[in-house]
Amino acid sequence: MKTWKCEVCGYVHKGESPPEFCPVCGADRDRFSEMVIRVERSAPAAAAAWRCSICDHLHSGSAAPEHCPVCSAPANLFAPERETAPVAGLADVGRVLILGAGVAGMTAAEEARKAAPGVAIQLISREPGLPYYRLNLTRFLAGEVTEAELAMQQRSWYEQQRIELVEGDVSAIVPEAGEVKLRDGRMLSYDRLVLASGAHPFVPPIAGATREGVSVLRTLADARAIRQRLQPGQRVVCIGGGLLGLETAGALTRQGARVTLLEGQEWLLPRQLPRRGGQLLQQHVESCGIAVRCGVQVRELVGDEQVQGVRLADDSVIPAELVIISAGVRPNSYLARQSQLKVKTGVIVDDRMFTSDPAILAAGDIAEHRGLLYGIWPAGYAQGVVAGINAVGGHAEFSGLAPSTRLKVLEVELFSIGQLSLADASYELVEEEGDGGYRALVCRDSHILGAALVGDTALAQLLTDAIKDEVQLPELPELLKHFPRLAERFG
Ligand SMILES: Cc1cc2nc3c(=O)[nH]c(=O)nc-3n(C[C@H](O)[C@H](O)[C@H](O)COP(=O)(O)OP(=O)(O)OC[C@H]3O[C@@H](n4cnc5c(N)ncnc54)[C@H](O)[C@@H]3O)c2cc1C
Repeated sequence: MKTWKCEVCGYVHKGESPPEFCPVCGADRDRFSEMVIRVERSAPAAAAAWRCSICDHLHSGSAAPEHCPVCSAPANLFAPERETAPVAGLADVGRVLILGAGVAGMTAAEEARKAAPGVAIQLISREPGLPYYRLNLTRFLAGEVTEAELAMQQRSWYEQQRIELVEGDVSAIVPEAGEVKLRDGRMLSYDRLVLASGAHPFVPPIAGATREGVSVLRTLADARAIRQRLQPGQRVVCIGGGLLGLETAGALTRQGARVTLLEGQEWLLPRQLPRRGGQLLQQHVESCGIAVRCGVQVRELVGDEQVQGVRLADDSVIPAELVIISAGVRPNSYLARQSQLKVKTGVIVDDRMFTSDPAILAAGDIAEHRGLLYGIWPAGYAQGVVAGINAVGGHAEFSGLAPSTRLKVLEVELFSIGQLSLADASYELVEEEGDGGYRALVCRDSHILGAALVGDTALAQLLTDAIKDEVQLPELPELLKHFPRLAERFG
């Protein structure tokens, strides 16, 4: 079965083909792309079921029986039962506790349940209410979806799946006891713990950042508070021209605010787009009624109790009643550090999502895999699948993915994947404009390492597959048609 992701809202659909319409945001089926995850599943060496090749008898256990109890076939005629969901599960795993009910935690819970019907699963979060589509908060802010539509599943789903939702704030992990401690004093025990506690917004040390009217957008509570405070015609400054800053600026403009977007780098989305792509995006953003200022440094947020404006390094002040800071995120790794897990920036995990403690796994924004902190929805989903299966004794591996992004809310087609900066002179940036769009490839010899599209994203799937499968330029005539200079060399 394939996994499809709605590029507009992030909804994940499983099936041979994408659905007609996205049930979350109504996007057409052509907005679904197959998810670029490399999850390998196979029966675990230590906890497999074994099928007798003579009589089909299924034996549960870590090894084949000496003789088949039905037909007496010897052990060597048993084969490990591959693709068995549910897997037999580890005998010592009775309780799986998942810390964090974002996409990584939810997916881990769902996969653990599929793989091990008998295991007790608790999903704990300090955010009240049902787990929700965090990536749709900007669409909620824009008024495109209601609060009810944000829920990832209805309450009855958790009952059917026997996944217990626990509301609470975890204050400590006690690995030696196999327990976590909640701030209200409750203790919860686990045989396997999955850390899926995500990340929090980074707020740079700007003077005045604690004034009223200064906010970040990470949780439903943040989004509700911003909506409550927002008045039509209000002046808003969004600090940070990354994906979140752009979507937030677009959402607030839709609600009638007068928005200025500030970016410290020379162009928008500097990590996802080459300079020219960022400039073209800026033209579009400005045409939506957002004032954009790139290459500016914020010195201070001015005002008394309430913020009144943003002072820049050149001493000019942009008046604002509301300031939203989108300056990136940092993993919620404090508890892991305190419990002596190996942590660099995020919690270090191996390809099976195990941390340095064999009873603890991690997935999503908190996890650092092969030196990478993805901070994006598809990675949280893919790592959640792997963590959930492995937590109950199955075997799955995550071998990384090419990070890709799309922009919601602002109604501009934008796609970016892989590496967009040039590591050295052996990397080449090839840009084309025309036919209603901007296209860029970062190549090294005949390999594509990264790509960006603005305006027309018809090539997105082709590029995703080419990068995922490491297809070389001479084998991509359809792509070369859109890059005449490369076609001369490789066509
Ligand atoms: C507004 C917005 C829009 C986005 N849009 C996109 C997009 O278009 N595409 C994309 O790829 N990505 C997008 N992202 C990023 C994406 O949403 C994240 O990468 C993803 O949600 C991470 O999932 P996670 O499960 O790792 O963590 P989270 O979703 O952060 O979930 C972690 C949960 O754990 C809880 N928690 C943390 N510590 C504790 C504790 N001590 N005790 C109890 N609970 C705890 C948190 O409160 C939270 O509920 C967006 C993010 C935001 C905020």
